[in-house]
Amino acid sequence: MTEKNLVDSHHVKLVTVYASSSAALKPVYYDAARRLGETLASAGKAIIYGAGGQGLMGSVADGALARNGQVYGVVPEFLKNLELTHSGLTGLKVVKEMRERKQLMLEDSDAVVALPGGSGTYEELFEALTMKRLGHWVGPVIIVNTNGFYDGLLQFMEYSVEERFMGRNHLKMWSVVDEPEQVLDAIDNSHGWDADALQYANVTAANA
Ligand code: AMP
Repeated sequence: MTEKNLVDSHHVKLVTVYASSSAALKPVYYDAARRLGETLASAGKAIIYGAGGQGLMGSVADGALARNGQVYGVVPEFLKNLELTHSGLTGLKVVKEMRERKQLMLEDSDAVVALPGGSGTYEELFEALTMKRLGHWVGPVIIVNTNGFYDGLLQFMEYSVEERFMGRNHLKMWSVVDEPEQVLDAIDNSHGWDADALQYANVTAANA
């Protein structure tokens, strides 16, 4: 596996953002989400996300659009009908189901950023990490740990390594930042990863 930092955020054009749909969070979370949108748009990065108009999803999109960023949404038909979809997006793709959406959100993406969220966000984050572990998608994954929200999960992932469910090298699949303004530096400093990751996907006595 490549040991050098290979990713240069200047080459990152499209960033996938996973984020909560909740409209009942503390203000600190919406503020960080909005700043992530502003940061990415100001750096000329396009965003692809779940198309939500509320929650942290809505704040990311609003922040990016306010800075003239390009924001693309992918939404399954049944959610669109709930009228939760953001109305001001640069582009909206309507798909049949959640799986198709998840695939579309990741396949052309250069990097993934996860803000705090619930089961939907975890599923998306862990799908990206699993694809990365298997070498199918190899971009940077940045976790924005607003308000220490992910502390418990990050501890659990360390524990998974200690218990040898993952290898120590798998801890290099993601980076953690406290503030959204640190995301681009984290992309630049993220550990290089490539398709031969499959050779390291399984934990053995040699790589535990
Ligand atoms: P959660 O963290 O459980 O709120 O789920 C948010 C994540 O799942 C987002 O990144 C979306 O891609 C997807 N998602 C879940 N619920 C919705 C919704 N009501 N509208 C749009 N996307 C959603």
